[in-house]
Amino acid sequence: MKRIPTYLWAVLLLLLANRASAQTITSPKEHFGFAIGDDYQLATYTQTEAYFKKLAASERTRLVDIGLTEEGRHQYMLIVSSPENLKNLNRYQEISRRMARAEGLTDEQARELAAEGKAVVWIDGGLHSTETVGTHQLIETAWQLVSRNDPETRRILDNVIVLLVHANPDGQELVTNWYMRELKPEKRSLENLPKLYQKYAGHDNNRDFYMLNMKETQNMGRQLFVEWIPQIMYNHHQRGPAGSVLAGPPYRDPFNHVFDPLMVTGIDALGAAMYNRLNSEKKPGFTRLNGASFSTWYNGGLRTTTHFHNMIGLLTEIVGGPTPENIPLVPQRLIPNGNTPNPVTPQRWHFKQSIDYSLSLNYATLDYAARHRYELLFNIYRMGKNSIERGSQDYWTPYPRRVEAIAQAYQADQRKSSGTATASATADPFGWSNRGGIPAKYYDSVFRVPAQRDPRGFIISADQPDFATATKFINALIRTGILVEQATAPFTVAGKSYPAGSYVVKTAQAFRPHLLDMFEPQDHPNDFQYPGGPPIRPYDAAGWTPAYQMGVQFDRVLEGFEGPFRRIPYGELQTPKGRVEGSGAGYLLSARANNAFIAVNDLMKAGLDVYRLPSGVPGRSDLGTGTFFIPNAGKAKALLDQAASEHGLIVSALGKRPANAVKLKPLRIALWDTYGGSMPSGWVRWLMEQYHFPMQVIYAPEIDAGDLRKKYDVIVFVTRAIPAPGSREVESYGAPSREPKAEELPAEYRPWLGKISAEKSVPQLKKFMEEGGSVVTIGSSTNLAYHLGLPVRNALMEMTNTGQERPLGADKYFVPGSILQVATDSTQQAAWGMPAKADIYFEASPVFKLAPDAMIKGQVQPLAWFADGKPLRSGWAWGQSYLKDGIAAFVANVGNGKLYAFGPEITFRAQSHGTFKLLFNQLYGVARP
Ligand SMILES: [Zn+2]
Repeated sequence: MKRIPTYLWAVLLLLLANRASAQTITSPKEHFGFAIGDDYQLATYTQTEAYFKKLAASERTRLVDIGLTEEGRHQYMLIVSSPENLKNLNRYQEISRRMARAEGLTDEQARELAAEGKAVVWIDGGLHSTETVGTHQLIETAWQLVSRNDPETRRILDNVIVLLVHANPDGQELVTNWYMRELKPEKRSLENLPKLYQKYAGHDNNRDFYMLNMKETQNMGRQLFVEWIPQIMYNHHQRGPAGSVLAGPPYRDPFNHVFDPLMVTGIDALGAAMYNRLNSEKKPGFTRLNGASFSTWYNGGLRTTTHFHNMIGLLTEIVGGPTPENIPLVPQRLIPNGNTPNPVTPQRWHFKQSIDYSLSLNYATLDYAARHRYELLFNIYRMGKNSIERGSQDYWTPYPRRVEAIAQAYQADQRKSSGTATASATADPFGWSNRGGIPAKYYDSVFRVPAQRDPRGFIISADQPDFATATKFINALIRTGILVEQATAPFTVAGKSYPAGSYVVKTAQAFRPHLLDMFEPQDHPNDFQYPGGPPIRPYDAAGWTPAYQMGVQFDRVLEGFEGPFRRIPYGELQTPKGRVEGSGAGYLLSARANNAFIAVNDLMKAGLDVYRLPSGVPGRSDLGTGTFFIPNAGKAKALLDQAASEHGLIVSALGKRPANAVKLKPLRIALWDTYGGSMPSGWVRWLMEQYHFPMQVIYAPEIDAGDLRKKYDVIVFVTRAIPAPGSREVESYGAPSREPKAEELPAEYRPWLGKISAEKSVPQLKKFMEEGGSVVTIGSSTNLAYHLGLPVRNALMEMTNTGQERPLGADKYFVPGSILQVATDSTQQAAWGMPAKADIYFEASPVFKLAPDAMIKGQVQPLAWFADGKPLRSGWAWGQSYLKDGIAAFVANVGNGKLYAFGPEITFRAQSHGTFKLLFNQLYGVARP
């Protein structure tokens, strides 16, 4: 037999290898029974999971189980790269993390690592499950990357580590089963899903990424911010504005002032790669910047939180789905401009086109990463290093309020010298009328003033009323990759002493933008369509500062500082240490600590007596009003020991039983929800589970059927449950949905249909309260107060010239999602345990005025109000002085029962820990002795 030359062997082996990979890897069509993008066909998660497991057999992949979902499914990340790269995966992961953290690296070392490393790109799909292109492009992308052997794919695999992440397994299962339940393809529809596509949060699963309440968020956050820290992350959504195919990067202003500019220009570069590729492939319809509503202001979205970590976070919002649709004719979209350089024309649109577009966009991103691997790695290092430098020296972030202060200082001097007012220095943004600008000393009058510097760090003292909640805040930082230190001994900074166990967060670290955002106010610019015109609504919240929402007490430190601090390893979650101090006739639990409610619910569930002390304990003002008292009996001590160690509670003993104790009784709690699922209700359902409140979900038909008092003691209505008088609809959040007809639905969902109405529901709720029940209303559901004719009015009204009253116009008053401060009356049972001043989440929330004799008659008691005309703490509050003296929350007697009305979002996305007890307090009954 003739000898075969070595080179031929190599060729033969390569051919065999390619054949092998093509043979062993099943195509989507073979696996699912249809090609991805076929009309009227969707894959379930069960099928997708099985397919990912088949792809895991390829030498180009590594399948990673990143954790369980809220419904208990496995959530996967499929890592795709060349077989050679996968052999060194740990090394490349290490390089990716070191470059992002930039800690202890010189530029020289960073250049060497950049040359050695591989670009890491995250691509996810399916976060919003009705946006079906997301999951299906993920499946198709995985298949193509694993099976294709063209030069571009090979170049990508050689230079890039691709993280393909399924963002919401539970939702895909729900949505696909819903869509595919119709046998006739033409009858299939994504409309009228019976419940939320994430167990608690639904669409708000994309608002959880700085708080990380949900398991899916925790799973993905761990990979994004602790394990991998990719240089690029690409988050797929739907859908673009009407008349376009998709909206994508770059995004409209305002961009957040804490960002590194290199991150923002990095988005520009990737955006250009995306729409250039679409145009070269004759795929029109991409819009960007002001062509769509998406901005980079908000933190907390899957994509946006990455911006605060120096990652190039990409979002596209594409049209299409399994049911063919039309690209509508929108005349103004037909004119090419900077936002939409290549408009699409009206046409029939099929699922496959959206999949093809998505593949082009993914390949554009991956091709960019393969070609610019070195720069991507070096630039994330550069941004991290910039952050470390800004946090190591005096630095003034260019917030609008600082620039406004310059303009005001200049104007004040002008007035002094000329005796007349001059035009605003900011009204002429291009400086045409004053080419020389204004004297530089005005810059120094703000940007060189030591008292106005950015902090070098923050200290969270272990000595605060609710340290367990403060520790939850610390864990939110740790889950997002922030470096946190903890004091191993008492220490003093800036003249203040702190106990051991206190946490320290220094700003000299790579993800400084994120940590500033978690502690400092968001300074949303005054953003109007034109001077004097209507405000431009922020895409989501204007202000959210989690430390404020959570009621965390902390100090800002403006100078560099050191102390006996231990570095907590990245990603290592903290458990607060509680204790039971002493023993006696009974035990005390401060109601200022939210976790006390967990302990109390466990004690009552075990059949033990729990009391509250309305005015607290003499000599123990630290405990606050409404302190819990638990007699030392039965299993009380054992349960309290357990609660102290599990929930970080400080339990103190009391020598003898207090005289003023009122006994608590557990209540039968109902929580309103609706067909399709209310997100605010879902968050409260999750909250009640976390804090061990047993509860029943209640729907409109059960309310309308009456006899509520037989079944329940308290009914909770979150925002957007109860319509305004004279209206049948609650104001919509997102697209308003048509209620399906009962006969279109499986029988199990029919009892969920129906809405709260003035005619049928309100009389039953009134009767329920008259018979001693209580109703808690939050946000717009405080409308119930008007239905009941209580002596309260809308405080945000003005008089017209003709003497008519009307709501204040948005040109005068506009407060989108922001943090405001209220005064509270913590002597009221409903507000026990609250501080005298509290930060609340306010979102165009109702504000009330009492009728003059309402309080005298004792019918209405204010619980929280705006004590002055400057309540803004974080965000945007145009015309905030109108809020002065407005009532934010009150309790009213209705027969033998009560109505609690909370205008602000006291349970906002399960983030506003500082106001949770305004709900919790209402979930216990009190038996007066
Ligand atoms: Zn979406």
